[in-house]
Amino acid sequence: MTPTHTDLHDLTVAELASQLRARKVSAVETAQHFLARAHAAKDSGAFLDLSDDVTLAQARAADARLASGTAGALEGVPVAHKDIFVTRDFVSTAGSKMLAGYRSPFDATVVSRLADAGVVTLGKLNCDEFAMGSANENSAFGPVKNPWDVTRTPGGSSGGSAAAVAARLTPAATGTDTGGSIRQPASFCGITGIKPTYGRASRYGMVAFASSLDQAGPMARTAQDCALLLSAMCGPDPDRDSTSLDVPAEDFTRQLGDSIDGLRIGVPAEFFGEGLADDVRAAVDAALAQYQALGAKLVPISLPRTELSIPVYYIIAPAEASSNLSRFDGVKFGHRAHHYTDLNDMYRQTRAEGFGDEVKRRIMIGTYVLSHGYYDAYYLQAQKIRRMIADDFQQAFKQCDVIAGPVAPTVAWALGGHGNDPLADYLADIFTLPASLAGLPGMSLPVGFGAGHMPVGMQLIGNHLSESRLLNAAHCFQQATDWHTAQPPVRA
Ligand code: GLN
Repeated sequence: MTPTHTDLHDLTVAELASQLRARKVSAVETAQHFLARAHAAKDSGAFLDLSDDVTLAQARAADARLASGTAGALEGVPVAHKDIFVTRDFVSTAGSKMLAGYRSPFDATVVSRLADAGVVTLGKLNCDEFAMGSANENSAFGPVKNPWDVTRTPGGSSGGSAAAVAARLTPAATGTDTGGSIRQPASFCGITGIKPTYGRASRYGMVAFASSLDQAGPMARTAQDCALLLSAMCGPDPDRDSTSLDVPAEDFTRQLGDSIDGLRIGVPAEFFGEGLADDVRAAVDAALAQYQALGAKLVPISLPRTELSIPVYYIIAPAEASSNLSRFDGVKFGHRAHHYTDLNDMYRQTRAEGFGDEVKRRIMIGTYVLSHGYYDAYYLQAQKIRRMIADDFQQAFKQCDVIAGPVAPTVAWALGGHGNDPLADYLADIFTLPASLAGLPGMSLPVGFGAGHMPVGMQLIGNHLSESRLLNAAHCFQQATDWHTAQPPVRA
């Protein structure tokens, strides 16, 4: 059936791509439809930049390729990018006043790979400043509202991405995950998101936070859509990202539909301890029971250093951030203070004005743990424990194929709910940090609702390069359940 103009936003990426290929709808019509929704939803805070001219020009080019039979796999599908990816045709701020109005001379590799697959860029999405945060409240451009309850956070740092996908303002979005920033907002907004193995997606053009942890990934409504997008996003980029893995781009849809009969799902005791809220526990338990009904076997496992992932991450990530952010000096990029006395004062004023509180806090922690006299006690220790955390996963994967647990200890909290207590945010990262520190792929899929009818996500973690298996495990669950089709009350 030909979609009417009004229900285009209910189509998944897979459905939309096939409608476009069949020429039942044009890329221009599709772009106009989503642009109208994005403009109408200004109050959500999800979008930081829209440029109808640019988007429509890309859509016209997509229509020409669709007409000439040279279309890419995702030709004409609109995707919006987290503002941490630099883009030539849109402003790129990374959620920071430091980069307000900044225009990059090039596109991030992830952005250009998606464009090569035919994706039309819908705009740029709000995020925590330099991706530091768990609630999107550290953005210099204001918070984002969770479409399930506008008084609550959508999660962070990819809060704009998650909220926009959940409210159907875009069929899909890109996100980045350093310590949970794809998985946690996906969970809070009831959508699906995957962070691939470290090195799968190029970091070129992703404004750097913590380079040994940062990874790009897709956020969409279904695992199938994530698989389609991830296939376009990944692949080696040796000339531009020295940590990009030398593994060929893969078709991550290829295992979708394989039986999961006999799949061994490891259930780490440490993910189900005291700090886990009852509503989240109940939804995740029910999802595990559903997996058993699909033929999977639950295997009790232990990830004994789970708790240590918090201090380890909050030493390593700020250490790397303090180094990465030294480039924002008022000379090379973005903001420069207007009033200063000499060069040092210019640096000081520029950084005092341009960075927000959380970013300054991380720079201070980072420079402290790297400083002479403290390096061994903090940074070096953290690196050693990071290795042990990675080893714990390898022990676990001797007994199981994938690991399942909650994404976050609670459902989305109220905007402003953590007040001025950064530690409350840090502690809520406990279940996403271990996979990040180990460089493992992890994803979140919606598995129910908790208190206040807020979405609950379940996390699946796989061994290195096992994205196809993870995506299939999520896909099989989504074939058997309909949590991923639930619609939030707030829609444009
Ligand atoms: N919440 C974590 C932090 O604030 C993770 C952020 C991320 O993954 N970018 O650092």
